[in-house]
Amino acid sequence: MIRVYYRQIDAHTTVEEIQKITRELLSGIVERENVSLEDKIPLKVHFGEKGNHTYIKSENYQGIIEYLNSRNIDACYIETSVLYGGQRHCKALLLKTAAEHGFTQLPLVVADGERGEAFTEVDINRKNFITCKIGSGFLEYRQVIVLSHFKGHTLAGFGGAIKQLSMGHASKGGKLAMHMGIKPRIVNRKCKKCKLCMQACNENAITIDEKRSFIDHKKCVGCGACLSACTFKAVTRMTLKGIYNALHLRRFRERLVEYAYAAQLGKHNIYFNFAMNITKGCDCEPKKMNTIMDDIGIFVSMDPVAVDQACYDFVKERGKTFRGKEQLLYAEKVGLGSRQYELVRM
Ligand code: SF4
Ligand code: SF4
Repeated sequence: MIRVYYRQIDAHTTVEEIQKITRELLSGIVERENVSLEDKIPLKVHFGEKGNHTYIKSENYQGIIEYLNSRNIDACYIETSVLYGGQRHCKALLLKTAAEHGFTQLPLVVADGERGEAFTEVDINRKNFITCKIGSGFLEYRQVIVLSHFKGHTLAGFGGAIKQLSMGHASKGGKLAMHMGIKPRIVNRKCKKCKLCMQACNENAITIDEKRSFIDHKKCVGCGACLSACTFKAVTRMTLKGIYNALHLRRFRERLVEYAYAAQLGKHNIYFNFAMNITKGCDCEPKKMNTIMDDIGIFVSMDPVAVDQACYDFVKERGKTFRGKEQLLYAEKVGLGSRQYELVRM
C-alpha cells in the first residue's frame, strides 16, 4: 500500500514549526521509503501571482532546503511561465516576481525558456495527447521535489500535486493545449457592468459597454480568471450554443492528468502538499482571497495521486467538497498513481 506521511498544523503553527515539520517529513520519507536522493534536485514551486496573498511563502520551504544542504545536494527552484498575461508571463517577469515574493534562498531555473518556447515532446500515446510539451529544463533532472499548495481551482476543481506536475511543468504551448475548448461567455441579463472581469482578464478579451458585455474568443486563452472574478455569476462556462460545458471541463481535467503523467515519466519524485491557506481560487489569481476552512496539515508521498487523494479526503471530512474528482479517477486509470493509501502520522 502507498504511504502518505502527514503532520497536522493549525492557525497557531509558526513558520519555524513548519520548517521543522517539513525537514522531519523529508528525512522521514527518505529513510522509511529508502529513497535514493540525486545529486541535483530542483524544488518545483509556485511563486504566487503579484497581488495574491495566500500562496505558500518561501520561508515555509526553508526546512526542506536545510535538509538538502545537509546532504550536500545541489538544489534550485524551478518554475515555468504562465499562459496568460500578468507578472509571471515570461522569464524576466517570473524572476522579478520570485524576488519580490522572497524566493531568493536558491538559484532559480526557468524551465521553458525566455517566453515559454523551450519544450521537449514527451511521448505518452494516451486518449487526448500522443505527446506532451514539457519545459525542457525538467528533462535534466531525474528527481524533483514537487511542492504544491492544496486549494481550489476554477477549472480543475482543486489544485495539488497533479496540477503542479501538469500545468506547472508544461511549456506555454502545452498549457494552451490543455486549456483548449474552455471559453466562458457572459450572460448579459445578469451582468451589472462592474468590470471586475475586465480587470481580471490579462488578454483584454472582455468588452463591457452600455449595449452589451462579451468575450472575444479569438483573444481568450481559457484561463478562467473572469469566472472567479464575477461575483454576480454572470460569467458562465456555457458554450456559445448554450450547451453546458461539462464535457470540456472533464476533457480539461483529463488533459491535466495526461500532462502530469508525461512530466513524471522516468523520475522518482517526492510530492509535498501544503494544505494550508485553503482558498476557493488558485495562487494565479492576482487578488486577496478569503480562506474557506482551517489549515489541515502537510503531506508527503512518493505518489502524486495518493497525496492529492489524502488532501481531498481531509477536506471532505471537514465538510467541504472540491469539484474535480475526475482528476483522481482518471489519474489512477492512466497509471499515474494510486487512490488507495495508508496515512502515516509522522
Ligand atoms: S464581473 Fe460579472 S457583473 Fe461585473 S462586468 Fe463582468 S460579467 Fe458583468
Ligand atoms: S478565460 Fe476570461 S479572463 Fe481568461 S482570457 Fe478568457 S476572458 Fe480573459
